[in-house]
Amino acid sequence: MKIHRSSGNIRRREFLQKSAGLAAFAAAGPLSLPAVLSAAEQPNTRKTIGIQVGAVSFVDEGTEKVLDLLQERGAVDTIYLTTFTYGRGLAGRQISGHPFPDHGAQESDEKTFHGGNYATPHPEFYRDTVLKQTRAPDHGDLDIVAHVLPAAKKRGMRLFCSVEDVFRSDVPGVKDVAEVDLPGRRTGTLCLCHPHVRAFWTGLATDLCQSYDIDGILFFNERNGPLLNALGASHAQSIASSRVTCFCEHHQRAAKERGIDFERARQGYAKLDRFIQAALKDQRPTDGYFVEFWRLLVEWPEIIAWDRLFDAAKHQVLAEVNAAVKRVRPGLQVGFHIEHVNSFNPIFRATRSYADLATKADFLKVVVYNNCGGERYANFIRNVGSTVFRDVPKEELLRFNNHLLNYGDEAKLDELASAGLSPDYVFRETQRALAGVQGKCKVLPGIDIGIPTGKNSRQASPDDTYAAVAAALKAGADGLILSRKYSEMRLANLAAAGRAVREFKG
Ligand SMILES: [Zn+2]
Repeated sequence: MKIHRSSGNIRRREFLQKSAGLAAFAAAGPLSLPAVLSAAEQPNTRKTIGIQVGAVSFVDEGTEKVLDLLQERGAVDTIYLTTFTYGRGLAGRQISGHPFPDHGAQESDEKTFHGGNYATPHPEFYRDTVLKQTRAPDHGDLDIVAHVLPAAKKRGMRLFCSVEDVFRSDVPGVKDVAEVDLPGRRTGTLCLCHPHVRAFWTGLATDLCQSYDIDGILFFNERNGPLLNALGASHAQSIASSRVTCFCEHHQRAAKERGIDFERARQGYAKLDRFIQAALKDQRPTDGYFVEFWRLLVEWPEIIAWDRLFDAAKHQVLAEVNAAVKRVRPGLQVGFHIEHVNSFNPIFRATRSYADLATKADFLKVVVYNNCGGERYANFIRNVGSTVFRDVPKEELLRFNNHLLNYGDEAKLDELASAGLSPDYVFRETQRALAGVQGKCKVLPGIDIGIPTGKNSRQASPDDTYAAVAAALKAGADGLILSRKYSEMRLANLAAAGRAVREFKG
């Protein structure tokens, strides 16, 4: 409680420092001065109600109109503006094969979408990296941060730049800094140990914080280490034991510093690959699948060590981004997106300590997407149930895993996708995160609104959205972030989220 109070005081001080500009805000727009003051006067009770929005929505629908809708329907006070990504999870219109929501352009941008930096990259921040040319060409000369920021400020809304580690292989420089896989091939993903990659992420964060008067950065990195990738131990991935990364020279050097034997790591992953491939062909080891897997880990501890090495590089990037932002201005906030696999994979959970993450961030956006969560959790169970836990009937594996994760009474495996995960799941995962961070950073659960699911999977009704938002707030969250992007959300669901927020605030 103490820590919450003091961080509230910091926020209040910052607000008061900025308040010289209040008169100008009031004169410039529809903002009422008392409304802003009342928000600042209750810094300890203020909950962040955020939403993730990509540039295309402001282009398609008009900035003022979008902000009106977000405030009026969603009770939103904070914009997480997708500023850097080459991915369509956060940027672009609705992905193809799914119905458009009831706002925005009703035409796919799949063919014209490119991605990159939707703000203006300033070259002085990218001197130490080959990744210099990342400007997104999608909307011509438009600088989305310069465009949306004054409009949001005028309304007293806060704005964070969302930055995501999703690249495309044709970006100049990517080939030079890409990961190397088990057989020694260059991939399309960036090596997080590479000095140019680290310089890129800190350069980008510094550029955005220095060049624009934003409130901070929300950093996304959903990349898994080689062990999980080998097992396909995530919801959205295939089992890729032959393509695990990274075995580049920088990882070799980092391994040497830690006393990890590179050759044994490679041999261990080659053995793991053979185990996985045999399992997929139903070739049961004499002692069973789980025992054989565990024996591999015991005999080849370099498998775990190499996975830890990947995590260490990923977490170092997080820490460096945080430090870079604080160097610009200590009051700027840094948040990390904590991916869905952290929720339903106990092996991944074991590698992520909320208490540790809390030392690197001001807030964690913890994914508790319950609607698409049913489909994703079922995929995860089927993946691990086809290799390591192949001897266990999948329904029993699901029940067992529910116990490990402290999930409540969720649907059976064959009904999980159509049922989704429950609001109780949102409540439990929010409380777990709050207990984990021990007040050292804020927890903002990511709430699923309209994240595309399969044809036979659950499509969330407004009541579903209402229940998820209410569960997160009831659990004691410091706020929430409506996800993944406004361009895939139906307005009735957005309004249901806003209704839950307003009722909670009374
Ligand atoms: Zn590497």
